[in-house]
Amino acid sequence: MPTAVTQQVQTLHFLKPAKPSENSVEVWSRQSIEALFNLPFSDLMFQAQKVHREHFNPNEVQLSTLLSIKTGGCPEDCGYCPQSVHYNTGVEASKLLDVEEVKAAALEAQKNGASRFCMGAAWREPKDRDVEKVAELVRTVKSLGMEACCTLGMLTESQAGMLKHSGLDYYNHNLDTAPELYGDIITTRDYQERLDTWPMYVQQACMSAAVASLAWAKAAHNALVWSTNSPT
Ligand code: SF4
Repeated sequence: MPTAVTQQVQTLHFLKPAKPSENSVEVWSRQSIEALFNLPFSDLMFQAQKVHREHFNPNEVQLSTLLSIKTGGCPEDCGYCPQSVHYNTGVEASKLLDVEEVKAAALEAQKNGASRFCMGAAWREPKDRDVEKVAELVRTVKSLGMEACCTLGMLTESQAGMLKHSGLDYYNHNLDTAPELYGDIITTRDYQERLDTWPMYVQQACMSAAVASLAWAKAAHNALVWSTNSPT
């Protein structure tokens, strides 16, 4: 029955939250990452399933909805992105959505079964006054009983803290590709600049972070994963 399905996807239950390994540097050596990605696909899926079942109810899926809260006009030149001012893609720049617009979209998402609401803004790095406004949006989403997620570009430590205190659950931060290929995709920032903001999300603000990678080759993907798990 449709009602039963809707009930199932409302919340994703952790059975046993994952903790960082004490031996994480050894586990995430470049060689071990290469060995993992060189496994036959079925073996890789099997290993992934084993880990997934240790930590999650295997038959639950969380539904999330993503809303662009500030579209276009971004000064960065990411080669894949239609929101960059460097490319003529027909995407119009718009201002940050207000609280009522975001609340209406979040309520609609919730009605459709989403338990997480993600808000993305086309910024290189937000100003403090932008983060204050987004913090208000996060509080609005949380007041509906949903998880809140953001992707806003690079943050300062105090901005990350501001978002954490507003109740933000997740921050998505795209590292794009491996360091050696970075200049092929983006020239308005360098890889290290992007990577330097990583600990602010994970350690200072204690928010979960995610990487969405554009790995053009397997070796590039391995290098990207390795760079996020290695001591500097
Ligand atoms: S920083 Fe984000 S919004 Fe801006 S051009 Fe790159 S991908 Fe697009």
